[in-house]
Amino acid sequence: MTEALPAPNKLQTVLGYALSMMLADFHVHSNFSDGKLTIPELIDLYGQRGFGSIAITDHVGESHTLIGKAASHLGLCLTTAIFPLYLEILKSEAERAWKMYRMVVIPGVELSKNSISNHRSAHILALGINKYISADGDVAEIAKTIRDEGAVSIAAHPVASGKLEKQTYHLWNRREELSNVFDAWEVASGDRLFPEVLNSSLPKIANSDLHIGRQITSWKTVLECERHPEAILKAIKKQEVKFRFYREPHNRGQLI
Ligand SMILES: [Zn+2]
Ligand SMILES: [Zn+2]
Repeated sequence: MTEALPAPNKLQTVLGYALSMMLADFHVHSNFSDGKLTIPELIDLYGQRGFGSIAITDHVGESHTLIGKAASHLGLCLTTAIFPLYLEILKSEAERAWKMYRMVVIPGVELSKNSISNHRSAHILALGINKYISADGDVAEIAKTIRDEGAVSIAAHPVASGKLEKQTYHLWNRREELSNVFDAWEVASGDRLFPEVLNSSLPKIANSDLHIGRQITSWKTVLECERHPEAILKAIKKQEVKFRFYREPHNRGQLI
């Protein structure tokens, strides 16, 4: 089902949506890892709701740990073999998203270091990638590699999520040492705002970490910049961002 976008006003037509306030979500999972929806379904989910930009960020696990190997084996992480197809689909769906919705789709990954200890676990988003990035090695090196590739590095859900799930405290434990290697730290994930990050001087971003449709009701980032990948990533780096809670209207029916 495709809903028509509101017709652009005259000024928007002249600018071609060049500069407009946009709602964005830079942490979204597809069924290439542990999300339920396909990439085309995600594009339509956000596009029909008028979002200006999203990043698809499927998991990449560590290659040498048992947990990482098991996750790849179960299809819960991207593998090097599947990665070219992931990028190819993201590219073609980004073109469709732009044509249909004027929505910018940014290719990303969530580099996932999962340990039995919450204090050794860390998740890092890389936004604006054009090649495979490994989740192996120290987090500071990974963040450097992301930036060397011209992508944006984000510390994902760095503090207690308040949910019954694995926690990832490693980045927060090292936040002073790592403060300069990440372009932003998630100040909110899903419906949870993180006071520790909010009250810090660290650069911030708010995302849904969406795995199923109804998780679209969550904190989001608001940007006002050109609808172009480079302009959007630059706005994150320059911290020209605001945060807003997006709630799915009841009259849209139930998302699963
Ligand atoms: Zn994560
Ligand atoms: Zn995630």
